[in-house]
Amino acid sequence: MVRHHPTDELLLEYAAGAVPEPVALVLAAHVSLCGHCRAEVARLEAVGGVLLESLEPEPVSEACRARVLELLDRPAPASARPKAPDIRLPRPLAGYLAGPLEQQKWRRLGPVAELPLLTGHDGFNTRLMRIRPGATMPQHTHRGMEMTLVLAGGFRDETGHYRRGDLALGDAELDHQPVADDDEECLCLVVTDAPLKLTGTFGRLLNPFLRS
Ligand SMILES: [Zn+2]
Repeated sequence: MVRHHPTDELLLEYAAGAVPEPVALVLAAHVSLCGHCRAEVARLEAVGGVLLESLEPEPVSEACRARVLELLDRPAPASARPKAPDIRLPRPLAGYLAGPLEQQKWRRLGPVAELPLLTGHDGFNTRLMRIRPGATMPQHTHRGMEMTLVLAGGFRDETGHYRRGDLALGDAELDHQPVADDDEECLCLVVTDAPLKLTGTFGRLLNPFLRS
């Protein structure tokens, strides 16, 4: 049962395809685990479809139409399919890993192991984190926003208790030290905008939350 969700504004931007890839990855993974947000995104996309239909139709060439139909008939490329992960990774995330979690190049730091993802995105730090059961997270050194999606196990801080599918939104000025649940290793997908501060639409959307 997922209890912590993205804001309505974030879901709207996501449904419109307007968020950067690292943020889209976190939201896609959350939506794949959360029936509530899946229904909301479907509703928002339907609204977007109605808006599109109200626009003047552009004529589509016969060659373009044939190409689209051909693409629709093809099976998904192997690289886009999940690779039999050792835990149930959300489908949008599995496509970013070249093999099972255990075979990835984890960077271990005490009770925490990190696996960087989407390393080419300036201004974003995207990674999977594994935290030993019962361990306290290290002090954060980033500045700016932080999105944490729990994929296995869970953690607690003064803002709540987060389990599989829950999304925690916060910033580093929030003085918190998350502690992993005792029952199993905690696996999270974490996106921060360190070291650069987010600007533009996305930063503005998060700001009302970050001030609260
Ligand atoms: Zn949700």
